[in-house]
Amino acid sequence: MITKAMKDKLAKRDPYCVHCGEDAELVIHHRKNRGMGGSKKLDNMSNLLRICPWYNTFIESSATAADVAREHGHKLRQWDDFDTPILDECTGIWYVLDDVGNKNQVPPPVEENVGLF
Ligand SMILES: [Zn+2]
Repeated sequence: MITKAMKDKLAKRDPYCVHCGEDAELVIHHRKNRGMGGSKKLDNMSNLLRICPWYNTFIESSATAADVAREHGHKLRQWDDFDTPILDECTGIWYVLDDVGNKNQVPPPVEENVGLF
């Protein structure tokens, strides 16, 4: 469950959508989908990302958009770790999210096919 305290921390950590920079009416997105087995860990800070409703719908409805979102850590597969870095597409900076509400800057991943943004 996402508490009020967690929502406050998320608002501080994610002041705008990592995809487009929108900062109004953001929604809380689960990087690892709740539909895929109801682990309590899914409501941990490291699995939550505030994004705009448009991007949320886009990555849940388009397979291509979902693939890019996975490359950027915005979506996780069942077997991905919660410390998979996310890309802030507005700044080009990669972060690892922790469970106390911080985002910690990390170097860009050097995997193949990370893709341009
Ligand atoms: Zn957005």
